[in-house]
Amino acid sequence: MKTVKDINFEDKKVLIRVDFNVPLNDALEVTDDTRIRAAKPTIINILEDEGSCILMSHLGRPKNREDEFSLRHIVKKATEVLGVQVKFVDDCIGETVDEAVAQLQPCEILLLENLRYYPEEKQGDRAFAEKLAAHGDYYVNDAFGTAHRAHASTAVIAEFFPENKCFGLLLASEVENLNRVLTTGESPVTAIIGGAKVSSKITVIENILDKIDHLIIGGGMAFTFVKAQGGAIGSSLVEEDKMDTALEILKLAESKNVKVHLPTDSIIADSFSNEAETNISPINSIPDGWMGLDAGPETNTAFAEVISHSKTILWNGPVGVFEMDNFAQGTIKLGLAIAEATENGAFSLVGGGDSVAAAKKFQLDDKVSYVSTGGGAMLEMLEGKTLPGIEALLK
Ligand code: AMP
Repeated sequence: MKTVKDINFEDKKVLIRVDFNVPLNDALEVTDDTRIRAAKPTIINILEDEGSCILMSHLGRPKNREDEFSLRHIVKKATEVLGVQVKFVDDCIGETVDEAVAQLQPCEILLLENLRYYPEEKQGDRAFAEKLAAHGDYYVNDAFGTAHRAHASTAVIAEFFPENKCFGLLLASEVENLNRVLTTGESPVTAIIGGAKVSSKITVIENILDKIDHLIIGGGMAFTFVKAQGGAIGSSLVEEDKMDTALEILKLAESKNVKVHLPTDSIIADSFSNEAETNISPINSIPDGWMGLDAGPETNTAFAEVISHSKTILWNGPVGVFEMDNFAQGTIKLGLAIAEATENGAFSLVGGGDSVAAAKKFQLDDKVSYVSTGGGAMLEMLEGKTLPGIEALLK
């Protein structure tokens, strides 16, 4: 992987695809600057070489150039985070942009307007990509969050830089850290897959079975496995049409010598509410009218035990409805067990929107080895797919 560290950008204009798709509040202020901070090392590397940075990103899903999706709203926060005044131009192609780019001096940063103001971006339009490409001497992709999309700025554009293209440091470290789990991870390797639905994780599970020793299945999706094995799950979340798949996954795991750990007990509730009546129940005899919303104490101990013996840990998906305080304990205890294993030398990677949100909520994000910034992109890598944004850089 060629990265920005392998190139001297002195006096060069560097076009960087970043992922500044950050959340904004009603006053259009940035409420979480994680993604801007994540792109900082790449940008600083180029500025230190005395190159200039032209940043391009999308923000949200605009239909009609709505102002709420303007990247202008990001300028203040980006300037603060990067420690350098970020200039802004209110388009991403055309004459005004050409002028702003021409005037850009070494060590300066120019942010272009939302790429998705043009439908051509998502269409992967070649002519649009060529216009964007004209802004830079080099192309750098540092947008892991959109690397699974074959859009104009994330993939198509790379062909206009046959030599002068490379990985940004964030993108490179996402790939390296995921590979550390998927290919070079020290055994025992444990994957924890939780969340609401089996259906969204089937391909991930099938692909990682070749790479892991233990599979912990938790959260809402565990009930499809429990019911498929004949358990009574009350009104817990279930995907009836995925029960056969669940049994096939268990068989496949066995044939590959992967030990599967399902919850054995659950915190049950009489409604999907933080105020519901609760109880503890064995996982396979939940009374009618009750639903399992969190892992039970016996399960938490068993999961922590597996984690404590693991050398490589992948965590994707919460093991309970952690957004509600009364059903957060399973996810907290799991996170603490991962933090402890990490402190004892294991390598741990947390990824996927909800597990990252959970890790942050319970202040565990700096106690694990790596937190991935890309939800969909990470899942596709775990599914074994080659991401278009990465493939385009390697061509
Ligand atoms: P996913 O996006 O598939 O990773 O699912 C994450 C969501 O799963 C979170 O919002 C959790 O609240 C939810 N979840 C976890 N455990 C359960 C459960 N036992 N019942 C219903 N939802 C759950």
